[in-house]
Amino acid sequence: MIYADHAATTKASAAAKAAMFACMDEYWGNPSSLYSVGQRATEVLQNARAAVAQCIGADAAKEIYFTAGGSEADNQAIRSAAYWGKRKGKMHIVSTTIEHHAVLHTLDRLKQEGYEITLIPVGADGIVKAEDVANAIRQDTALVTVMYANNEIGTIQPIAEIGKICREKGVVFHTDAVQAVGHVPVNVKEEYIDMLSLSGHKFHGPKGVGALYVRQGIPLLALVEGGAQERGKRAGTENLPAIVGMAAALKEACANMEKNSTYLKSLREHLITGLGEISHSALNGDAQKRLPGNVNFCFEGIEGESLLLLLDDKGIMASSGSACTSGSLDPSHVLLAIGRPHEVAHGSLRLSLGEENTMEEMDTIIEHTKEVVSYLRGISPVWKELQKGERNYVIQ
Ligand SMILES: *Cc1c(COP(=O)(O)O)cnc(C)c1O
Repeated sequence: MIYADHAATTKASAAAKAAMFACMDEYWGNPSSLYSVGQRATEVLQNARAAVAQCIGADAAKEIYFTAGGSEADNQAIRSAAYWGKRKGKMHIVSTTIEHHAVLHTLDRLKQEGYEITLIPVGADGIVKAEDVANAIRQDTALVTVMYANNEIGTIQPIAEIGKICREKGVVFHTDAVQAVGHVPVNVKEEYIDMLSLSGHKFHGPKGVGALYVRQGIPLLALVEGGAQERGKRAGTENLPAIVGMAAALKEACANMEKNSTYLKSLREHLITGLGEISHSALNGDAQKRLPGNVNFCFEGIEGESLLLLLDDKGIMASSGSACTSGSLDPSHVLLAIGRPHEVAHGSLRLSLGEENTMEEMDTIIEHTKEVVSYLRGISPVWKELQKGERNYVIQ
């Protein structure tokens, strides 16, 4: 079995699991309680908060709010900025066409509530231009939200440039950094980030836990009301084992980032070269400004779904853009945004690598993908038309 879907989720690391078990064994008290068992839990909670703050370059641990994952952090950041913006008569939000659904669907809901949303398009390289963001900002802009790295095609956005523009114009800037944190260097201060979302299970921590960084002075709205946990911004007894597991995984990921990134890039480049040998195939997204472990290809004349199923038969676990919106046959909004036509966007394959993957596995993936693409093209009416010249190739 070859797991090549690390952008979907990762396996919890040994350090994360050990920290979680220790937490359940020893620090099982309620951090809100004043007696010793509770106080020990509080200490562990504060250490986790400080560790997360340090990994992303935050000034203080109190700028970190734990959430139940990346989606919740995105929802809270966006809804909060929208709420505080409205109070000042600002009901315009700027974002991009390639955001995760946790952002896009939240913006759809705000649109129904009367907000005006500007989604900036990206180029064929899958990268948004900072200049386009600057031009979209208005007097009544309450928020700019641009993802750090794309979850489908791995492209890394010019976050520091966008952050600087927002800071100069006095607009709140949020970034969904769920794919970036623990994988590429992220620094909220140097990159002028006001709010940042991250999620434990994308860097070998547990699922169902994440964090929202909120710069001191930026007001935050609670989505869950109740107790005073997370300084009144996220009620409910803390999911301490998950929080502690996430912090352990993040510390490990940040300590090994350079080593991991060099290794992942070597796997990535090998895979890109190998898959690039398939005729009428194309890498999606910029070749350089992409996550160390992300490979995303389009193959003309085939269906991504069939490709995935046949690769699964060979023990290779990957993903396609369209499979993310399970049950729907719509092609990926990201591939459409970079200008891939519908018929080609359907034939996509995302391979997202992790440190556990080996170079031998890359060779196996290349070999099987070549076989499967050639088999599927053999039975594809579209491919026959392309070959007979009854239809034009989109990918040369
Ligand atoms: C996975 C992911 C999310 C959602 O995070 P969850 O913790 O699964 O809710 C949000 N944004 C991006 C870019 C992601 O990759």
